[in-house]
Amino acid sequence: IQERRAQIGAPDDDHVIVKVHACGVCGTDINFVRDWEEEHMPLGHELSAEVVEVGKNVPGLKPGDRVIVEDCTMCGVCKDCKCGNPQFCRNMYDMEGQPGMGQYMSVRFNCVDKFDGLDYVTACLTEPLAVSLTSVLLADIPLGGSVVVLGNGPLGLMAAKLAKARGASFVAITGLPADNEREKARLTLAEKLGCDMTIQTGKQSVEDEIKSSFPDGVDRVIVSSPPESMYDAFKVIRFGGTICFFGLHFGGRDTIQVSINDMVFRKIRMIPCFAEPAINFPLSTQLLKEGVVLADDLITHKFGFDDAKDIMAAIVDGSKPIVKAVMLPNG
Ligand SMILES: [Zn+2]
Ligand SMILES: [Zn+2]
Repeated sequence: IQERRAQIGAPDDDHVIVKVHACGVCGTDINFVRDWEEEHMPLGHELSAEVVEVGKNVPGLKPGDRVIVEDCTMCGVCKDCKCGNPQFCRNMYDMEGQPGMGQYMSVRFNCVDKFDGLDYVTACLTEPLAVSLTSVLLADIPLGGSVVVLGNGPLGLMAAKLAKARGASFVAITGLPADNEREKARLTLAEKLGCDMTIQTGKQSVEDEIKSSFPDGVDRVIVSSPPESMYDAFKVIRFGGTICFFGLHFGGRDTIQVSINDMVFRKIRMIPCFAEPAINFPLSTQLLKEGVVLADDLITHKFGFDDAKDIMAAIVDGSKPIVKAVMLPNG
């Protein structure tokens, strides 16, 4: 991890300068820290900030405003955006190579969402919560339905909580064996968030555990863990069920074998969930404000530049009870 200094000048006419108050560490950041071997990669995209300077053509923003900075923003003018499908926009605005784990950024005015009544640390959960929220909305959980969430990282945990809020009667979540501090913390939190069943993969069979309560399988599976866990999804999904998936792997383990016959004969629906462009951010901030998801449950660690290396290392090796760690770049 390197610290770099760069000068940010006056904002362009359609940009604002923001001071970053909080930036969450995402699994993607950890993947980069652990596996990235090419040129430098800016870290951090889950951030809340304060507007400090406004370009002359920027509408509706002033210094002092609290904002979420979106990491990639729909253009609003392409055919998909104009036809009501902004989730398919491929013409996005991004963070222009700047790290969210930095003190200041220059961003285009349409990339920010104003908020109030929420502290910066809580508000920086907006981005990851929006991913979980979008997966739960796409999964279209039936009232009283049964859901298995694969993976108990922050995204999986929040998806489980939202699945309950969305009307599921039964939610199970899987995680790695609780053999280190990180996994113990995640397992404990899953129970606190109201999961009806927790399954430790490797120690327990996901299929056996689920089928003991649901012999025909569950209505929905949300996959936040890496692609290999899709095998469990196919084993526990019921006839006509939906699998919504967003777990990735960048170290080469991104390919699995599926039986198309099985998918056809069992009428299994597969829905990918990809958080580009940013979607549902204002709703996500609202849910944090209303306490549907409590940031205090998720955010276990806050740190500054000096401790960044230690925190990232601990997230990788599991030696600290970290669920979500948040950097405070300005202290
Ligand atoms: Zn992320
Ligand atoms: Zn567009």
